[in-house]
Amino acid sequence: MTEANNTDFIREIVAADRAAGNYGGKVVTRFPPEPNGYLHIGHAKAICLDFGVAAENGGVCHLRFDDTNPTKEDTEYVDSIIDAVHWLGSDFGPEPYYASDYFERMYDCAEQLIRKGLAYVCDLTPEEWEKYRGDSTTPGSEPPGRSRSVEENLDLFRRMRAGEFEDGAKVLRARIDMTSPNIHLRDPVLYRIRRVHHFRQGDRWCIYPMYDFAHCLEDAFEGITHSFCTLEFDIHRPLYDWVLENLGFDPRPHQYEFARLNLSYTVMSKRKLLQLVRENRVRGWDDPRMPTLVGLRRRGYTPEAIREFCARLGVTRFNSLTDLALLEHCIREDLNRRASRYLAVLDPLKVTIRNYPEGKIEYLEGINNPEDPAAGTRSIPFGRELYIERSDFMPEPPKGYYRLAPGREVRLRYGYFIRCEEVITDERGEVRELIATYDPETRGGSAPDGRKVKGTIHWVEATHAITGEARLYDRLFSVEQPGTGEVDFLEELNPASEQIREFKGEPALAALPVGSRVQFERQGYFCLDPDSTPERPVWNRTVGLKDSWAKQQGK
Ligand code: ATP
Ligand code: MG
Repeated sequence: MTEANNTDFIREIVAADRAAGNYGGKVVTRFPPEPNGYLHIGHAKAICLDFGVAAENGGVCHLRFDDTNPTKEDTEYVDSIIDAVHWLGSDFGPEPYYASDYFERMYDCAEQLIRKGLAYVCDLTPEEWEKYRGDSTTPGSEPPGRSRSVEENLDLFRRMRAGEFEDGAKVLRARIDMTSPNIHLRDPVLYRIRRVHHFRQGDRWCIYPMYDFAHCLEDAFEGITHSFCTLEFDIHRPLYDWVLENLGFDPRPHQYEFARLNLSYTVMSKRKLLQLVRENRVRGWDDPRMPTLVGLRRRGYTPEAIREFCARLGVTRFNSLTDLALLEHCIREDLNRRASRYLAVLDPLKVTIRNYPEGKIEYLEGINNPEDPAAGTRSIPFGRELYIERSDFMPEPPKGYYRLAPGREVRLRYGYFIRCEEVITDERGEVRELIATYDPETRGGSAPDGRKVKGTIHWVEATHAITGEARLYDRLFSVEQPGTGEVDFLEELNPASEQIREFKGEPALAALPVGSRVQFERQGYFCLDPDSTPERPVWNRTVGLKDSWAKQQGK
């Protein structure tokens, strides 16, 4: 089904490790989100890689919450992440892992490094530290305290833990190399003092480990074999290796970096997404315009389409910008196969069929899905009063316009030919209603006398129609790479990203449950929103029908 190439440099490394019998042939990966926001489409790329590689190799993938930075973390995010991972179809076993469960073991590892003379307590303020650290062109120099005895360091570190010092008064540093060309190896901080409540550990700790110290240990404690992260971490890899080597883990996990997903017309930074939510620029984390998985889901995206998108992205070491049109292509392809078709009119114009008996209703047969014969057919009421799309009529049609116009005939989808006989306008000249006639001989969509009509339009019968709200979505930002230019990303929001319409739909739509995904013929794919009430269904447009991706690819 996928057009994707199913190997990449990471899969080749894993295959080579298995062939060499490394790790006893086992593969254990992890997906380590920080519970400080909702997952987005970029995380889906990481999930597909982490869980995908494990599954393909008979291994397991841990869902591990990287909850070592207590200030921004919350159980709301934990729950949403668990939901999103399940929704995508990834299986992490009965329970997720939490980095904070290892705080005691991490602390022990820090003491071990101190005992080996590989870590020390440093009293410098961040400003003072700057002077010793050097920069990319100047090597650093020996800071005071670096040569403290093991005993003194152990004592100070224990007192840090016991809460004897103010926040920020001291840190624990690795004793590596103040002259390393890699700044991350110039005695990086391992622990800092921070009196903040942790959402799982409460007030048990007032020192917290830094990411670079914690992450490799989490991987090692869990027996991870291959640890995948995005490219910006490649400069942290020597520290990852340093910590695990010096603590004697053998065999130990290895880190491999791949290019993150960047998507056009989209921001993916959690800080920016949070800002959109906090400032009510969108309806919430699950706004259908958000690149979050909850947003995409509410918009009508399927997990299958998202996985297919990730498969087509491939995994490389080159940063690039992915065209949003590819994501849209994947959902279109999926929904084309499985969404039932319905008739709905988004901008209704009334049509009265003068020669159709008043009060009579007949039922026409509609094909539910031309791509799937098993989907069957349904009955669609037809009568004297209809709605058609306002754009399917023009008082003065230009050349090449084959839909309705004064005196012109058009085919109604699944129904008759109708001819526009009269145009009723209001005082401002705006078209209010059309009076038409139908040809009873054309019920099957063709005329016995062989006359042709070029246009076929959709419609709904007025007295049986449901009325609902259609939310038509467009890209959230109007520039390709929001937030990268001179202006604030908020100024680059697309003011027309959501348009609300009152629409008329065929009555069969009323029976569908929230979350249903359908095609409104000629208008796109839609998904029934949780904001719906029985009186007022709300349908989100997932995507229109025009496939700019396929067009670019010459398909
Ligand atoms: P932020 O930097 O905005 O806080 P993050 O990327 O650090 O977000 P995490 O929760 O730490 O968010 O990410 C969990 C995992 O998802 C990491 O392994 C990270 O590399 C991966 N990931 C995050 N964003 C992307 C992306 N755009 N493309 C691919 N992988 C991503
Ligand atoms: Mg992170």
